[in-house]
Amino acid sequence: MIDLNYYSPEEEILNPLFNQKEVKVFVKRDDLIHPFISGNKWRKLKYSLRNARETNKNHLVTFGGAYSNHLLATAAAAAKFGFSSTGFVRGETVENDLLMLCRLFGMKLIFTERGIYKDKQKLFDDHFRDDHNSYFIDEGGAGLLAVEGCTELISELENSYNHLFCACGTGTTAAGILQGISQNHLNMQVHAVPVLKNGEFIRDEIQKYNENLSEFTLHTEYHFRGYAKSTPELINFIHTFSASTGILLDPVYTGKSFFALYDLISKDHFEKGSKILAIHTGGLFGILGMAKKFNELI
Ligand SMILES: *Cc1c(COP(=O)(O)O)cnc(C)c1O
Repeated sequence: MIDLNYYSPEEEILNPLFNQKEVKVFVKRDDLIHPFISGNKWRKLKYSLRNARETNKNHLVTFGGAYSNHLLATAAAAAKFGFSSTGFVRGETVENDLLMLCRLFGMKLIFTERGIYKDKQKLFDDHFRDDHNSYFIDEGGAGLLAVEGCTELISELENSYNHLFCACGTGTTAAGILQGISQNHLNMQVHAVPVLKNGEFIRDEIQKYNENLSEFTLHTEYHFRGYAKSTPELINFIHTFSASTGILLDPVYTGKSFFALYDLISKDHFEKGSKILAIHTGGLFGILGMAKKFNELI
Protein backbone atom coordinates (compact mmCIF):
# COMPACT_ATOMS: atom_id res chain seq x y z
CA MET A 1 0.00 0.00 0.00
CA ILE A 2 1.41 3.35 -0.96
CA ASP A 3 0.81 5.73 1.89
CA LEU A 4 2.58 7.94 4.38
CA ASN A 5 1.46 7.90 7.96
CA TYR A 6 1.69 11.64 8.18
CA TYR A 7 0.75 14.37 10.59
CA SER A 8 -0.45 17.76 9.38
CA PRO A 9 -2.03 19.59 12.32
CA GLU A 10 -3.90 22.88 12.28
CA GLU A 11 -1.95 25.13 14.60
CA GLU A 12 -2.90 28.61 15.77
CA ILE A 13 -0.29 31.36 15.44
CA LEU A 14 -0.38 34.59 17.42
CA ASN A 15 0.47 38.15 16.56
CA PRO A 16 -0.57 41.54 18.01
CA LEU A 17 -1.89 42.43 14.54
CA PHE A 18 -4.43 39.59 14.73
CA ASN A 19 -5.71 40.88 18.11
CA GLN A 20 -5.97 44.39 16.80
CA LYS A 21 -7.92 43.28 13.71
CA GLU A 22 -9.90 40.65 15.66
CA VAL A 23 -9.05 37.71 13.44
CA LYS A 24 -7.68 34.28 14.26
CA VAL A 25 -4.99 32.67 12.11
CA PHE A 26 -4.14 28.98 11.89
CA VAL A 27 -1.51 27.14 9.85
CA LYS A 28 -2.15 23.76 8.21
CA ARG A 29 1.26 22.16 8.66
CA ASP A 30 1.65 20.23 5.42
CA ASP A 31 5.36 21.04 5.76
CA LEU A 32 5.46 18.35 8.46
CA ILE A 33 4.19 15.60 6.13
CA HIS A 34 7.70 14.50 5.15
CA PRO A 35 11.09 16.27 4.97
CA PHE A 36 11.51 15.65 1.22
CA ILE A 37 8.11 14.44 -0.05
CA SER A 38 6.84 17.62 1.43
CA GLY A 39 3.56 19.43 1.59
CA ASN A 40 1.44 19.54 -1.49
CA LYS A 41 3.96 17.42 -3.42
CA TRP A 42 2.91 14.33 -1.46
CA ARG A 43 -0.76 15.11 -2.06
CA LYS A 44 -0.12 15.65 -5.77
CA LEU A 45 1.94 12.47 -6.18
CA LYS A 46 -0.02 10.02 -4.08
CA TYR A 47 -2.56 8.81 -6.63
CA SER A 48 0.00 8.69 -9.44
CA LEU A 49 2.20 6.46 -7.29
CA ARG A 50 -0.74 4.17 -6.60
CA ASN A 51 -1.70 4.13 -10.26
CA ALA A 52 1.89 3.26 -11.23
CA ARG A 53 1.89 0.39 -8.74
CA GLU A 54 -1.51 -0.91 -9.87
CA THR A 55 -0.43 -0.89 -13.51
CA ASN A 56 2.77 -2.76 -12.63
CA LYS A 57 5.19 0.02 -13.53
CA ASN A 58 8.44 0.13 -11.60
CA HIS A 59 10.11 3.23 -13.02
CA LEU A 60 8.86 6.78 -12.48
CA VAL A 61 9.79 9.41 -15.04
CA THR A 62 9.21 13.07 -14.36
CA PHE A 63 10.30 16.62 -15.14
CA GLY A 64 11.32 19.81 -13.38
CA GLY A 65 13.64 22.78 -13.07
CA ALA A 66 16.96 22.54 -11.23
CA TYR A 67 15.29 23.72 -7.99
CA SER A 68 12.07 21.75 -8.33
CA ASN A 69 10.51 20.51 -5.08
CA HIS A 70 8.55 18.09 -7.25
CA LEU A 71 11.72 16.41 -8.58
CA LEU A 72 13.01 15.91 -5.05
CA ALA A 73 9.64 14.65 -3.80
CA THR A 74 9.42 12.18 -6.68
CA ALA A 75 12.98 10.95 -6.11
CA ALA A 76 12.36 10.40 -2.38
CA ALA A 77 8.94 8.80 -2.93
CA ALA A 78 10.33 6.50 -5.64
CA ALA A 79 13.05 5.33 -3.26
CA LYS A 80 10.63 4.88 -0.38
CA PHE A 81 8.08 2.89 -2.33
CA GLY A 82 10.46 0.75 -4.39
CA PHE A 83 10.47 2.43 -7.79
CA SER A 84 13.48 3.50 -9.82
CA SER A 85 13.27 7.07 -11.12
CA THR A 86 14.46 9.37 -13.87
CA GLY A 87 14.19 13.16 -13.79
CA PHE A 88 14.48 15.35 -16.88
CA VAL A 89 15.97 18.60 -15.64
CA ARG A 90 15.21 21.75 -17.62
CA GLY A 91 18.26 23.58 -18.99
CA GLU A 92 22.01 23.15 -19.00
CA THR A 93 23.89 20.86 -16.63
CA VAL A 94 24.19 22.34 -13.13
CA GLU A 95 24.99 21.07 -9.67
CA ASN A 96 23.14 22.03 -6.52
CA ASP A 97 22.13 20.52 -3.18
CA LEU A 98 18.63 19.60 -4.31
CA LEU A 99 19.89 17.68 -7.34
CA MET A 100 22.47 15.96 -5.14
CA LEU A 101 19.64 14.74 -2.90
CA CYS A 102 17.71 13.53 -5.95
CA ARG A 103 20.76 11.52 -6.93
CA LEU A 104 21.18 10.16 -3.40
CA PHE A 105 17.61 8.89 -3.63
CA GLY A 106 18.67 7.04 -6.79
CA MET A 107 17.16 9.33 -9.40
CA LYS A 108 18.90 9.39 -12.75
CA LEU A 109 19.08 13.00 -13.98
CA ILE A 110 18.98 13.94 -17.65
CA PHE A 111 19.70 17.63 -18.31
CA THR A 112 17.64 18.77 -21.24
CA GLU A 113 17.92 21.81 -23.45
CA ARG A 114 14.93 24.10 -22.98
CA GLY A 115 13.54 23.79 -26.51
CA ILE A 116 13.52 20.00 -26.31
CA TYR A 117 12.26 20.00 -22.72
CA LYS A 118 9.00 21.69 -23.77
CA ASP A 119 7.49 18.56 -25.33
CA LYS A 120 7.53 16.25 -22.33
CA GLN A 121 5.46 13.48 -23.83
CA LYS A 122 7.84 13.31 -26.79
CA LEU A 123 10.86 13.21 -24.47
CA PHE A 124 9.27 10.36 -22.56
CA ASP A 125 8.37 8.50 -25.77
CA ASP A 126 11.82 8.98 -27.30
CA HIS A 127 13.53 7.53 -24.23
CA PHE A 128 11.05 4.98 -22.93
CA ARG A 129 8.64 4.08 -25.73
CA ASP A 130 9.65 0.42 -25.69
CA ASP A 131 9.99 0.22 -21.96
CA HIS A 132 6.62 -0.81 -20.59
CA ASN A 133 7.78 -0.45 -17.00
CA SER A 134 8.02 3.33 -17.16
CA TYR A 135 5.36 5.66 -15.79
CA PHE A 136 4.99 9.28 -16.92
CA ILE A 137 4.38 11.91 -14.23
CA ASP A 138 3.93 15.43 -15.57
CA GLU A 139 6.02 18.36 -14.37
CA GLY A 140 4.87 19.44 -10.93
CA GLY A 141 2.69 16.35 -10.73
CA ALA A 142 -0.11 18.17 -12.59
CA GLY A 143 -3.36 16.54 -13.68
CA LEU A 144 -6.56 15.00 -12.43
CA LEU A 145 -4.90 12.58 -9.99
CA ALA A 146 -2.99 15.47 -8.44
CA VAL A 147 -6.17 17.52 -8.01
CA GLU A 148 -7.85 14.54 -6.38
CA GLY A 149 -4.99 14.18 -3.89
CA CYS A 150 -5.26 17.86 -2.95
CA THR A 151 -9.00 17.60 -2.19
CA GLU A 152 -7.99 15.54 0.87
CA LEU A 153 -6.43 18.57 2.48
CA ILE A 154 -10.02 19.72 2.96
CA SER A 155 -11.66 16.43 3.92
CA GLU A 156 -9.13 15.92 6.72
CA LEU A 157 -9.67 19.37 8.33
CA GLU A 158 -10.62 19.18 12.00
CA ASN A 159 -11.98 22.71 12.33
CA SER A 160 -13.99 25.09 10.24
CA TYR A 161 -12.66 28.35 8.81
CA ASN A 162 -14.01 31.34 6.94
CA HIS A 163 -10.96 31.90 4.75
CA LEU A 164 -8.19 29.74 3.41
CA PHE A 165 -4.88 30.90 1.89
CA CYS A 166 -2.45 29.09 -0.37
CA ALA A 167 0.50 29.75 -2.68
CA CYS A 168 0.14 28.80 -6.36
CA GLY A 169 2.64 27.74 -8.98
CA THR A 170 0.48 25.87 -11.47
CA GLY A 171 -2.79 26.22 -9.55
CA THR A 172 -3.31 22.47 -9.19
CA THR A 173 -3.28 22.59 -5.39
CA ALA A 174 -5.76 25.47 -5.30
CA ALA A 175 -7.98 23.60 -7.79
CA GLY A 176 -8.01 20.57 -5.47
CA ILE A 177 -8.75 22.70 -2.43
CA LEU A 178 -11.74 24.30 -4.16
CA GLN A 179 -13.00 20.91 -5.27
CA GLY A 180 -12.61 19.57 -1.73
CA ILE A 181 -14.64 22.49 -0.37
CA SER A 182 -17.46 21.87 -2.80
CA GLN A 183 -17.43 18.07 -2.27
CA ASN A 184 -17.65 18.58 1.48
CA HIS A 185 -20.33 21.30 1.15
CA LEU A 186 -18.26 23.78 3.15
CA ASN A 187 -18.50 27.50 3.09
CA MET A 188 -14.96 28.89 2.83
CA GLN A 189 -13.40 31.65 0.78
CA VAL A 190 -10.23 30.49 -0.98
CA HIS A 191 -7.43 33.03 -1.52
CA ALA A 192 -4.72 31.96 -3.94
CA VAL A 193 -1.41 33.80 -4.25
CA PRO A 194 0.47 33.20 -7.53
CA VAL A 195 4.24 33.28 -7.03
CA LEU A 196 4.84 34.08 -10.70
CA LYS A 197 4.28 37.30 -12.61
CA ASN A 198 1.05 37.50 -14.63
CA GLY A 199 -0.65 34.97 -12.39
CA GLU A 200 -4.07 35.54 -13.97
CA PHE A 201 -3.69 32.24 -15.86
CA ILE A 202 -4.27 30.43 -12.57
CA ARG A 203 -7.96 31.28 -12.83
CA ASP A 204 -8.25 29.32 -16.12
CA GLU A 205 -6.35 26.42 -14.63
CA ILE A 206 -8.73 26.29 -11.68
CA GLN A 207 -11.76 26.64 -13.90
CA LYS A 208 -10.80 23.39 -15.66
CA TYR A 209 -11.68 21.55 -12.45
CA ASN A 210 -14.25 23.82 -10.82
CA GLU A 211 -17.32 25.42 -12.36
CA ASN A 212 -18.16 27.76 -9.56
CA LEU A 213 -15.47 30.30 -8.72
CA SER A 214 -17.65 32.58 -6.61
CA GLU A 215 -15.74 31.58 -3.45
CA PHE A 216 -12.38 32.20 -5.06
CA THR A 217 -10.05 35.24 -5.03
CA LEU A 218 -6.74 35.46 -6.84
CA HIS A 219 -4.23 37.92 -5.35
CA THR A 220 -1.79 38.54 -8.21
CA GLU A 221 0.17 41.41 -6.67
CA TYR A 222 2.44 39.38 -4.36
CA HIS A 223 4.88 37.80 -6.84
CA PHE A 224 7.84 39.99 -5.73
CA ARG A 225 9.05 40.50 -9.31
CA GLY A 226 8.55 36.90 -10.43
CA TYR A 227 9.21 33.22 -9.85
CA ALA A 228 12.07 32.57 -7.40
CA LYS A 229 12.71 36.31 -7.17
CA SER A 230 12.58 38.09 -3.84
CA THR A 231 13.07 41.49 -2.25
CA PRO A 232 14.57 42.58 1.09
CA GLU A 233 11.00 43.21 2.27
CA LEU A 234 10.06 39.57 1.66
CA ILE A 235 13.20 38.22 3.34
CA ASN A 236 12.65 40.47 6.34
CA PHE A 237 9.09 39.22 6.61
CA ILE A 238 10.26 35.59 6.51
CA HIS A 239 12.80 36.39 9.22
CA THR A 240 10.28 38.08 11.52
CA PHE A 241 7.71 35.36 10.93
CA SER A 242 10.10 32.47 11.58
CA ALA A 243 11.59 34.11 14.67
CA SER A 244 8.16 34.76 16.19
CA THR A 245 6.38 31.48 15.36
CA GLY A 246 9.06 28.77 15.11
CA ILE A 247 7.73 27.93 11.65
CA LEU A 248 10.03 28.36 8.65
CA LEU A 249 8.89 29.75 5.32
CA ASP A 250 10.63 29.61 1.95
CA PRO A 251 11.05 32.65 -0.32
CA VAL A 252 9.69 30.93 -3.44
CA TYR A 253 6.21 29.89 -2.28
CA THR A 254 5.08 30.10 1.32
CA GLY A 255 6.94 33.35 2.11
CA LYS A 256 4.88 35.11 -0.56
CA SER A 257 1.51 33.64 0.44
CA PHE A 258 2.01 34.36 4.15
CA PHE A 259 3.21 37.89 3.32
CA ALA A 260 0.00 38.39 1.33
CA LEU A 261 -2.09 37.16 4.25
CA TYR A 262 -0.44 39.53 6.74
CA ASP A 263 -0.68 42.43 4.32
CA LEU A 264 -4.39 41.85 3.66
CA ILE A 265 -5.12 41.52 7.38
CA SER A 266 -3.38 44.84 8.01
CA LYS A 267 -5.53 46.40 5.25
CA ASP A 268 -8.77 45.20 6.90
CA HIS A 269 -9.57 42.76 4.12
CA PHE A 270 -11.28 40.32 6.52
CA GLU A 271 -14.36 40.89 8.61
CA LYS A 272 -13.88 40.91 12.40
CA GLY A 273 -14.16 37.47 13.95
CA SER A 274 -12.79 35.68 10.85
CA LYS A 275 -10.98 32.39 11.24
CA ILE A 276 -8.31 32.08 8.60
CA LEU A 277 -6.33 28.97 7.65
CA ALA A 278 -2.99 29.42 5.88
CA ILE A 279 -1.77 26.29 4.12
CA HIS A 280 1.92 25.67 4.68
CA THR A 281 2.56 23.83 1.41
CA GLY A 282 6.06 22.75 2.48
CA GLY A 283 9.04 23.17 0.16
CA LEU A 284 11.44 24.23 2.88
CA PHE A 285 14.33 22.83 0.97
CA GLY A 286 14.13 26.12 -0.95
CA ILE A 287 15.83 28.03 1.86
CA LEU A 288 18.95 25.91 1.84
CA GLY A 289 21.61 27.32 -0.42
CA MET A 290 20.29 30.84 0.22
CA ALA A 291 22.56 31.67 3.14
CA LYS A 292 24.37 34.38 1.28
CA LYS A 293 21.22 36.18 0.21
CA PHE A 294 19.64 35.89 3.65
CA ASN A 295 22.70 36.72 5.72
CA GLU A 296 23.09 40.08 4.04
CA LEU A 297 19.65 41.05 5.28
CA ILE A 298 19.01 39.42 8.64
C1 LIG B 1 5.00 23.24 -5.82
C2 LIG B 1 4.67 24.11 -4.67
C3 LIG B 1 3.56 24.97 -4.67
C4 LIG B 1 2.69 25.17 -5.89
O1 LIG B 1 1.71 24.21 -6.08
P1 LIG B 1 0.79 24.22 -7.39
O2 LIG B 1 -0.08 23.04 -7.22
O3 LIG B 1 1.73 24.06 -8.56
O4 LIG B 1 0.08 25.50 -7.47
C5 LIG B 1 3.29 25.70 -3.53
N1 LIG B 1 4.08 25.61 -2.43
C6 LIG B 1 5.17 24.81 -2.41
C7 LIG B 1 5.99 24.80 -1.18
C8 LIG B 1 5.50 24.03 -3.51
O5 LIG B 1 6.59 23.25 -3.47
